Amino acid sequence: MYDVIFIGKPVETPSLKQMQIDPEKLLRCKGKVGDFSLRFRENGGVKEEKTRAIIVNTPHLQEESLPNFPNFSEDLNPEGEGDLIFIQDWEEIASAFVNGIGLGKALKAAKENPSRQIYYFYRSLRFTEGTDNLYEEARRAGVAFFRYEEGKLKIPGPNKISYTRGGVSMEIEGKIYSAPLLKPDPALEKLSRSLRIIPSEEGYLQTENVSLAPTLTGRRGVYAIGGARSPNGLAGFRDEVEFTLEEIETLKNNLKPLVEEDREVDDRKCILCYTCYRVCPHAALEESTEEDSMEVLKEACWGCNACISHCPAGAISISQEEEDELSRGLKVFMCENSAETARKKMPQENLEGFISREIPCSCSVKKEDIYNWLQGPEDRVLILGCFEESCKHLEGDQRGQRIVDEVNETLSSLDLGEDRVRFERLSPPMEKDLAELLNRWREGQL
Ligand code: SF4
Ligand code: SF4
Repeated sequence: MYDVIFIGKPVETPSLKQMQIDPEKLLRCKGKVGDFSLRFRENGGVKEEKTRAIIVNTPHLQEESLPNFPNFSEDLNPEGEGDLIFIQDWEEIASAFVNGIGLGKALKAAKENPSRQIYYFYRSLRFTEGTDNLYEEARRAGVAFFRYEEGKLKIPGPNKISYTRGGVSMEIEGKIYSAPLLKPDPALEKLSRSLRIIPSEEGYLQTENVSLAPTLTGRRGVYAIGGARSPNGLAGFRDEVEFTLEEIETLKNNLKPLVEEDREVDDRKCILCYTCYRVCPHAALEESTEEDSMEVLKEACWGCNACISHCPAGAISISQEEEDELSRGLKVFMCENSAETARKKMPQENLEGFISREIPCSCSVKKEDIYNWLQGPEDRVLILGCFEESCKHLEGDQRGQRIVDEVNETLSSLDLGEDRVRFERLSPPMEKDLAELLNRWREGQL
């Protein structure tokens, strides 16, 4: 078991056991934070390794934002006597990383060419540690900074720009350098599928820039740094690596679930349609190795409930134990052929204060389940089944009623209270009656 596997370029990890995989060679990632299993190609074969965490570190591609003009990465080699013009954010807001390159170039140009005027046009200047100093130095060295609004900077000729802002308008001639555009490595597209991470619109492994936890991706335990994260990932690279390695140390020593209530899959209902596998934004569902159903990977789950609302078989729910703990003493079993159908049509606030569980028939409720739900002196249980004529099971309603009677008799004989369990009949269109019934049961009027 490795502590971390790098996909792409590794960085030093003094106290963590690490290995590296080429991004093109990754085939599949299964498992969850603390226990991932990565399958990849190696020496003509396929290998599998286990790791607690994964860091993706791929480079950016740099593209010219103004074709035929030199960009910030090119050497300064001005011919003639003209001024030098740096344009940042020509196409879109450039990252703090590009800002660092541009400011460094402008400062160098000012120092090496005292006879020329250096202009720096920008739509936004973002600083990181070190680049704010560059800005100060460049100002002191005589670089003239001009902010422009989108569409207000034009390039009418190969060495000419035209600038307008707040009543000021000017034309400047000189050699133009433009900021490069940063693009994600094309390997990220396939990686996002293998790692089951939803990429951003631009194709990075983060859908948004998380400033406090900058390298997290949607899949817990998988981190994106450098060019896998976004253009901003390059600006504070060192800090982000430090943050990420600290996170992995914490996970290694103390891995806790993110949410208190477990989501669980009922293996009797799951039809293995893989809908939940596709909709879970956090890759927290996988096929169970023990049951013929899916299972929720507890430590990976963020508790968003997307799986619960999409499962066509109603097989996923919040764990009953957790629900029981949250209960205020009122529990209701609902037959799926009657009360449960009515419940879905009823305003859900009528269920407030109740813990409900769907059952195939009122006769399928088990006495031990009822006793389990009667832990505290205030606990009461309501069982809702069908009318006799519509019961789909042989005398299911009558058998349900008998179970309730027997439980009440036992409770009474043990001096544990009278009529703490009640049986009522409903049909699917009776949502108003259900709401009223729940209200009366809540108020103690039944
Ligand atoms: S609640 Fe369901 S969809 Fe949401 S993270 Fe957990 S398993 Fe995935
Ligand atoms: S969506 Fe529901 S039925 Fe389909 S695989 Fe997931 S748990 Fe099973």
